[in-house]
Amino acid sequence: MTVATARVRTEKTEKFRSVPACWICGGTTLTRYCECAFDFRLYAEQDPEIHGYDKATVWLVRCAKCGFGQPEALPTLPRFFDRMYDQRWSEEWVEREFEADYKDFIFQRILSELDRRVDHGAAGRMRRLLDIGAHAGRFMHLAGGAGWSVEGIELNPRTAACAARRTGRPVHQVNAQTLAAGVTRYDAVTLTDVLEHIPEPLALLRTVATLLEPGGTIAIKVPSGQAQWWKERALSTIAPARPMSIADNLVHVNHFSRRALATALERAGFTDISVRTGAPELLPPDGQPLRRALSNGLRLGIYAAALLPGAVRTPLALNLQAYAQIPRSTAARLERP
Ligand SMILES: [Zn+2]
Repeated sequence: MTVATARVRTEKTEKFRSVPACWICGGTTLTRYCECAFDFRLYAEQDPEIHGYDKATVWLVRCAKCGFGQPEALPTLPRFFDRMYDQRWSEEWVEREFEADYKDFIFQRILSELDRRVDHGAAGRMRRLLDIGAHAGRFMHLAGGAGWSVEGIELNPRTAACAARRTGRPVHQVNAQTLAAGVTRYDAVTLTDVLEHIPEPLALLRTVATLLEPGGTIAIKVPSGQAQWWKERALSTIAPARPMSIADNLVHVNHFSRRALATALERAGFTDISVRTGAPELLPPDGQPLRRALSNGLRLGIYAAALLPGAVRTPLALNLQAYAQIPRSTAARLERP
């Protein structure tokens, strides 16, 4: 080994700790499949320690047992992900995110399914919904309009302030574990485009299980890890110079297969688990009606094809949408793993 190689390895050892087993099933047969690059040039002044990871790389590995993809190693810098997500968006951008309707197709489908699954007024009160990762509050706004008593969790101060102001509903700036220490329990909890960002996601799912009433429903939407990987590969073949992949900077730290998402819910204590094809985002009006019509037509066409029986297992299913319940009876809950 040369001196230069030894120095690089020592530096890597200090900056990363290895992740030896699958976060979902505990499997240890993990195979490298994608190398992620870190680009932290923008953090030079805001956070020099995060900036110290600029140009580092880390492999994603896939579990042979459940198909889950995760990093081979994690940064050792304390609060790495909180610091990376400390984005100081402008007030105007946050307001535009509240108004933007590009996720409404996804949100409406989730609300429609939750409406079907959660009893109306069975408890003699409005049904309570908690949106984890509420962002600027768009989903909270739609859920409120659909008759839910809605609350949110949002850690970013600017988006949390917008969500609270625009919806007039409680937005908790604490993590789910802290909220679970309180007394309020919910009939439904939603995590839309959130769980792919949280390392060791089973811990959060177990906390959500305690935030739900008996019989309560969880709704999770994540990108399909394998389908997104195929899409990235196809796009990089067409346009080799295209910008960063979704996994760069470990922005997506979890890459769920259908089986991994179902296993995660089961291990967190949920039953009646359903994992199906998730709805796509649609382009909002942008002054280019033909481009928008073609793009949205393609997205909806792929989504329709991926809803066919068995297609959730194919690369056509670019997103996964899961629903599951907390057992209603104490006896059933005690039988949980
Ligand atoms: Zn696994």
